[in-house]
Amino acid sequence: MEKYDLIVVGAGAAGIMAAITAARHLKQVLLIEKLPSVGAKLKATGGGRCNLTNTLSNEEFMNRFGRESRFMMPALKAMNNNDLMRFFAEIGVECHAPDGYRVFPVTHNSMSIVDAFEKELARLKIKTLCSTRVTKIDSDGAKITGVDAGHKHYSCSNLIVATGGLGFPTLGAEGEGHSMAAALGHKVTELFPAMLPLRTKEAWVKNCRADTVAKVEIKINLPRSSKQHARGDLIFTANGIRGPVILDFAREITPLLARLGEVPVLVNLTQGMNEEDIKERLKKEKAKSPHGSILEHLGAFMAKPLARELILLAGLDPQKALHIQPGADRERLFKILAWTPLTIIGHDGFAGAMITRGGIALKEICPETLESRLLKGLYFCGEILDLDGPCGGFNLQWSFSSGFLAAHLGDLAQKNQTDRV
Ligand SMILES: Cc1cc2nc3c(=O)[nH]c(=O)nc-3n(C[C@H](O)[C@H](O)[C@H](O)COP(=O)(O)OP(=O)(O)OC[C@H]3O[C@@H](n4cnc5c(N)ncnc54)[C@H](O)[C@@H]3O)c2cc1C
Repeated sequence: MEKYDLIVVGAGAAGIMAAITAARHLKQVLLIEKLPSVGAKLKATGGGRCNLTNTLSNEEFMNRFGRESRFMMPALKAMNNNDLMRFFAEIGVECHAPDGYRVFPVTHNSMSIVDAFEKELARLKIKTLCSTRVTKIDSDGAKITGVDAGHKHYSCSNLIVATGGLGFPTLGAEGEGHSMAAALGHKVTELFPAMLPLRTKEAWVKNCRADTVAKVEIKINLPRSSKQHARGDLIFTANGIRGPVILDFAREITPLLARLGEVPVLVNLTQGMNEEDIKERLKKEKAKSPHGSILEHLGAFMAKPLARELILLAGLDPQKALHIQPGADRERLFKILAWTPLTIIGHDGFAGAMITRGGIALKEICPETLESRLLKGLYFCGEILDLDGPCGGFNLQWSFSSGFLAAHLGDLAQKNQTDRV
């Protein structure tokens, strides 16, 4: 029977970082991955460019994760964005932030990250078993004893589970980590797809497809959720909406959708203008071209196909001047331009979700070590935990930081305590 100090299950961002970090501390490490190669999802990140982190401070970074985000602090203290960039520079990957915010490898190619990881795994002689699925985690009821994988038992006193979320199953995410943790008594919160395009009830969106609308604000039009909002670019599709603001906001919508069947939202498609601003702007356009139609005037500051749909939605004739049309319809148009109503009715599920909302419940995990409070020697890191962030390098930084912290198997927390005494 093979025996290791540490077994890491899952060779994604979190698992590879954990294996490398642990092996640097002279531990006998086995890394097990069910896919034929390591870092499958990493290769696909950032559209193949890998947005691995961003330039925010730890506090600002955590705030973007919302609920229970303080859980992340020890991991971010152990490895923040600057530490991560130093780590990659040391293994030969220089990184930069061309827009001052999002950080990429200077090659803008995620293969640079995966190649460097593979070289470091080899340099540290970490035994890596690919095409090997872990099917069971073994324990004696109080502590970890090993795993079953590929019809063999591998013995260990420490186990890091880094099997990711449920999004993009073709890249490895199928939820076995969650089931194995649940079998050991861990609570798994309800799992929802996040960071994905959304479908709308309104069919008019298809007439605006491929229009990118900048600086859109979106909010949920339900009494208890009215404070939830996000800003960014939106793109209309054949059956709904996508784009950065939707990817970020989908995690607020999918749980409500599962409960309610449809979710009303309001979007501002006029770059933050309110009803008064819109009236003023239309007055100016009318002064420039007194005989112009409402479509011509509105089309001066928004894409014409979208302007046309919103005019029709208000019940107006796009080809006629605004002032000759019924007053009630004019008022309706101003309201619609300030906040356009849409109804979210679906999405493509986990197959198209870059992120999973939900995961292993945080209250059963010690944030200082990422060790289970139920079983000694069992650690979790990365997306499998109940934490999810928006677009912009948040989820990868969390995966790397948590993998780094978990790999210390409690040593770092102990050292911090000794330093304080
Ligand atoms: C298309 C796409 C683009 C993205 N772009 C970005 C981006 O630019 N920036 C960003 O911050 N985030 C991005 N994300 C999110 C980010 O990639 C994930 O949050 C992150 O990779 C999670 O890392 P992880 O190590 O926890 O899980 P994963 O990377 O999913 O790794 C888990 C690994 O465990 C393996 N595994 C699962 N079960 C078993 C088992 N039973 N036995 C053995 N192995 C198993 C899987 O095969 C997989 O390789 C993107 C996600 C997607 C899908």
